[in-house]
Parts: sequence; C-alpha cells; structure tokens
Amino acid sequence: MTAHSLTRRPFLGLMLLAPFAARAADGLAAILAPDAEVRTLYSDGEWCEGPVWVPSLSSLVFSDVRRNRMMRIPDGGTPVVFRDPSENANGNTIDGQGRLITCQHRTGRVVRQESNGSFTVLAERYRGGRLNSPNDAIVAGDGAVWFTDPTYGITQAAEGAPRPSEQAGSFVYRLAPDGTLAAVATDFHQPNGLAFSPDGRILYVAESGGAPDGSMPRTIRALDVAGGNLSNGRVFARLESGVPDGLKTDTDGRLYSGTGEGVRVWSPDGTLLGRIPTEGPCANIAFGGPDGRRLYICAGPKVLAVETRVRGAGIPG
Ligand code: MG
Repeated sequence: MTAHSLTRRPFLGLMLLAPFAARAADGLAAILAPDAEVRTLYSDGEWCEGPVWVPSLSSLVFSDVRRNRMMRIPDGGTPVVFRDPSENANGNTIDGQGRLITCQHRTGRVVRQESNGSFTVLAERYRGGRLNSPNDAIVAGDGAVWFTDPTYGITQAAEGAPRPSEQAGSFVYRLAPDGTLAAVATDFHQPNGLAFSPDGRILYVAESGGAPDGSMPRTIRALDVAGGNLSNGRVFARLESGVPDGLKTDTDGRLYSGTGEGVRVWSPDGTLLGRIPTEGPCANIAFGGPDGRRLYICAGPKVLAVETRVRGAGIPG
C-alpha cells in the first residue's frame, strides 16, 4: 500500500475527522495503536520547528522560527515563552550533558546554553566566511556536533536576516570535540534535517532544495560514518512531492521525516511504511516525553503529539 492511499479511501469525509493516526496505521501498526490520537498541544505559532525534549525541564522546547522566539511546553502543562528573541532559532538538540544546542538563522551560529544560563558559540565561521544559517544539529556518540547549513535564513527575510552567502555552498559540518570544524559533505543542495541510525554508523541527511518541477532532488540520503568521516553516500528515499525536512530514528532503526504531507516513516531498508498526515506541511519531529515514546510534530502553526509503541533513538532518560 502506498502512503498516498492511506487517507484516500471511500467515505473519507467522516474518516478525516476521526483520530487520523489510526487512518495511517496499516504500515505503522508497530508504531501506533489503532486508537492512537494526535493531540494539538499548541496552535498559536507562525512556523514551528526544532522540537527537542529537554529532560532537565521535563519539557518540549521548540522554535517558532518566523516569530523569532522559542517556546517550552512542560509535560502536561501550558506553553510558555522560552527565549524571546531567539535569533530566528531553528533546529535544537541536546548533548550528552543535557545542554541545549541551538541553530540560529539570524546570527549564522550554532550555540550551546550552559548550565549557568550563559551561551557558548560553537560554530560561526568556516574558512574565513560566516556560515549561512545553520538549520539543524545532532550530537554523535563521541560528542561531535553535526549540523547543516542551508541558506534559508539569509535568503528569506521572514526566516532571518538576508545577506550574501560567504560560503561556496550549503554544507554538512562536523564540529569535533576538540573544536575543529570540517565540511564533511559538500554536494547537497540545501541539506536540512539529519539523524543517526541507532548504532551511529549511518547518517541520514534530508535534501530540501527540491524544485516543483522535479529538476532538483527531493531525497533523503544515507551515508556511512566512520572516524568522523562519511562515505558510500546513496539515496535512501525519494519523495514524489514536497521536500523532506527534519529527521529522527527510533531504537529499531526506522527513519521518520517531516514532509510536505505529514510525517513519513521508513523501515531501515528504505521501505516506506506509511504516513501520519498533518493539515499542512510538517517541518520537524522529535521523540520525547518521560519515556521517549511520544512523537512531537511541528506542523506550521501547530505542535502536535502522539503516543507511540516505539522509543526514539538517543533520547536521554
Ligand atoms: Mg530543518
């Protein structure tokens, strides 16, 4: 069954009003209970991205990129402002010490907030030029911070602060634990979300520069990781419409991506399992909650959540 058919059955008028996770369940039975319900936690955003579960706060933190602020939703609680302004922050992640790492469009920086509240700039320049607008970041088992640097925050005023790019392209970077910054993949057109397989040996990267006419790739690529280097790049999944954005894996190695039509899920061998539809484009996703089994979904102005039968890979707790 194709993902497309999951919501295109007869009598869909009423079905669309039902808990829509259940509608997507055929290929996702191992992930979602038949009565799984997608709840709306927040609906007052402009463009929500970068969800991350922060164990020390028992909260989801996310970026409202275009509103230039970050929000926090305590587990079972009410959303509150977390950072305002946020420097048009986008992707967030947590390092091995529980510190929040944030990609900032407006400053072109990747920053880390220390336990005393101060900020450390982790990355800002490469080979003498400012980074474009770091989009998303993840932390490897060795403590290296991997991040993508497309141009959205310097080409779109709503996303940051327009200025010329000072880089030769939009690269994937690895910031080694010793502070050395290296461009580890330079052949992407707008690299965006990224995620490791549970064993850390595969890096998945979403390529979001796809053109409507299909002339540019709408793919998720997989690359082998060894010693901080990448090799054997290959297409893991190809989207027929929309573009992939944020990526996450669960402990069984399935890959999840925010896409133009909701959350798509693939098995580790690249088989499309299904889709959790959203009303509009879904940018980013994150596993979290006290047991790491809740899937948070940022979809335009909304942040959604659904309890799953799986657990996110690399979720502290
Ligand atoms: Mg992104």
